[in-house]
Amino acid sequence: MATAGRLVSRLAVVTGGGSGIGRAVCQRLASEGASVVVADINEASANETLESLPGDLRGQAHMAAAANVASKESVKSLLTSIQARYFQPPSVCVNAAGITLDNFLLDMEEDDFDKVVQVNLKGSFLVIQAVANALVACGATKGSIITLGSIVGKVGNIGQVNYAASKSGVQGLTMTAAKELSRFGIRCNCVLPGFISTPMTDAVPEKVISKMKALIPLRRMGEATEVADVCAFLASDDSRYVTGASLEVTGGLFMG
Ligand code: NAD
Repeated sequence: MATAGRLVSRLAVVTGGGSGIGRAVCQRLASEGASVVVADINEASANETLESLPGDLRGQAHMAAAANVASKESVKSLLTSIQARYFQPPSVCVNAAGITLDNFLLDMEEDDFDKVVQVNLKGSFLVIQAVANALVACGATKGSIITLGSIVGKVGNIGQVNYAASKSGVQGLTMTAAKELSRFGIRCNCVLPGFISTPMTDAVPEKVISKMKALIPLRRMGEATEVADVCAFLASDDSRYVTGASLEVTGGLFMG
């Protein structure tokens, strides 16, 4: 499929753009011609991503912004700074900000449960709501919102009761947003990665990784770029009849 220039003149915001999957998404969207807003709670890593981006085909500038998706105020000022710079809201929004704070159910601290839900689930809600409101207010006729769920939200995972709950929530949030926003031409889809090599999975013990690899039909972990490729498809008009979908990018792990 020819994809170069597929996203020319699109403005995209990518949360969690400072690392791993979010960074790969920023690079992929920019390489297809989008102007990209790299948003991350870690401003230094957002700036590093910004420096790695290829110029888009029209020579428009990308930008980096410090933003905490779990804070309504912070999300509001992110949208304000985007609109001040580009005079339009982003028509592509990829929610890749996420955290893990793993522990067994019997030992999980309430605070660690809350923190993961605040960032992964509430953060996706706040960003989607702000972007959708801005698109509707300016009379936009199309948009593509992409969330990062996880295969773990579908099948559960030992030691990740908070994370699995947050990611199941992200899927429900995305499907509901898809139903409510379709009348504005805004599509919403959820990507469910399996085990992808990023700083997030660097923390997983080697023993667990090798057990997982044995269960993956394609017999390897995924690359962040392989998730980014799917996000770019969902951002583009190539997926114009796809909304409310959950797309697994797992090498076949836990299919069916
Ligand atoms: P990562 O840790 O490499 O990157 C996550 C980024 O999110 C970091 O740059 C971090 O600073 C940022 N972030 C954290 N809290 C934030 C906040 N409150 N506001 C704004 N930014 C914040 O992780 P990753 O592996 O690239 O994961 C990206 C997304 O994909 C996450 O939602 C994750 O849950 C999901 N995912 C990852 C995998 C995997 O195997 N790596 C699997 C399934 C789902």
